[in-house]
Amino acid sequence: MPAVPLPTSLYTDTAHPAPLTPPLDGDRTVSVAIIGAGFAGLSAALHLAEMGVDVCVLEANEPGWGASGRNGGQVNPGLKFNPDELLARFGGDLGQRMITMAWGAPDFTFGLISRLGIDCDARQNGTLRAATNALTAKAVGITAAQCAAHGMPARLLDATETELATGTGRYSAALFDPRGGDLHPLNFARGLASAAQKAGAFIHGNSCVVSARKQSGKWLLRTNMATVTADKLLVVTNAYADGLWPGLRKTLVPVYSSIVATEPLPGALAHRILPHRPVLYESGHITVYYRLDKQNRLLMGGRGPQRTLTGQTGPLDYLKRYAEALWPDLRGVRWTHAWNGQLAITPDHLPHLHESSEDALIYLGCNGRGVALATTMGHQLAERLVGGQSARIDLPVTGIEPMRFHALWPIGVHSAMIWGRMKDRLGI
Ligand SMILES: Cc1cc2nc3c(=O)[nH]c(=O)nc-3n(C[C@H](O)[C@H](O)[C@H](O)COP(=O)(O)OP(=O)(O)OC[C@H]3O[C@@H](n4cnc5c(N)ncnc54)[C@H](O)[C@@H]3O)c2cc1C
Repeated sequence: MPAVPLPTSLYTDTAHPAPLTPPLDGDRTVSVAIIGAGFAGLSAALHLAEMGVDVCVLEANEPGWGASGRNGGQVNPGLKFNPDELLARFGGDLGQRMITMAWGAPDFTFGLISRLGIDCDARQNGTLRAATNALTAKAVGITAAQCAAHGMPARLLDATETELATGTGRYSAALFDPRGGDLHPLNFARGLASAAQKAGAFIHGNSCVVSARKQSGKWLLRTNMATVTADKLLVVTNAYADGLWPGLRKTLVPVYSSIVATEPLPGALAHRILPHRPVLYESGHITVYYRLDKQNRLLMGGRGPQRTLTGQTGPLDYLKRYAEALWPDLRGVRWTHAWNGQLAITPDHLPHLHESSEDALIYLGCNGRGVALATTMGHQLAERLVGGQSARIDLPVTGIEPMRFHALWPIGVHSAMIWGRMKDRLGI
């Protein structure tokens, strides 16, 4: 299967050159093979190589080709559920570890970037979770109270403080968590890939794995050109999972999310919007997320067509109109880029970790929070691959459960969007 080029985006137009990752063209034997070179696979490869493990990554296209090189660049703390819900559901030990891992994920990610010296415009200026109506304001207030009770630095902003922080009067409240921030995701992926290579990992682009099976106690992976024999296997193909692993694709909904970006904004306008440069996502049924990058371009993300965009900003007119409603001075500013990608939504809205045997791990489903989570989990997955089932991992290990009626996901997503939009408008 020939590699598919990364679709044009603001990131492809502004990224550092990609590291050389030639296709696998001869048979290779390693301790650990990783399928998929997004943040999860690259972080796992880096940490394994740093532990002295002989590791190779097989990527169908190029590092960062999936969601990792196209996302909103928001480095956000937490999971979809509040800390107390996690404790109630998973108990005091695992629940607490999930909280520490997920809310600490931005610190881990920024720490890693700084340790490796990755040049990816990383800034830890905080995350705003903004409420668009009374119902979401109440929910954000509950989250704020729980974060405070758990000793986290997050705090609730009222309407006036939120207006000062965002430059728009749209929001009635917001939760500000100073641990969040932003980065250039394609440069982060490429930087991680280079760092993993320097540490000794082999990364092969244009190397789609077409079969994975056990043979004489080892994993045998085939690409169209060569094979890899490995003691242990990590599958991190996320929303881009194909038919490689039985049933895996049917455990997630590969929803497209879209982003539209402006040219660098003029000084006064750039100063008015998110003046202290936190990132923001709205708390509602249909999530809108945005930030100003280091060059003062506004990146607005949200729902969009459930097909790959080809660069025109037209299909995302509604996001432009929404931005202009938030800050009317944006009218007349040029929107230069539009792109999208697929993220993995799971039925329980939690990341999934499968351990089909002692020697095979599968991780997927960051549900739109993978910049920090997938990077952090990459480290934990590496430790689990080395240490076996006694090594700590801060997520529940579950079985692969394909969804019924999975083939109908495009219809389901479309209806959920219409229904969500209606609920957001009505504030219910
Ligand atoms: C438009 C968009 C905006 C987003 N915004 C944010 C955000 O602001 N903040 C945030 O935290 N998260 C965001 N996300 C989610 C985040 O990007 C993902 O959770 C994260 O990048 C997932 O990383 P990953 O390594 O698990 O998977 P991916 O980066 O998707 O990588 C999977 C890789 O597997 C490869 N692959 C698949 N099958 C095979 C095979 N058979 N053989 C070899 N390789 C294979 C694919 O080519 C792909 O490169 C966004 C996602 C999208 C799409």
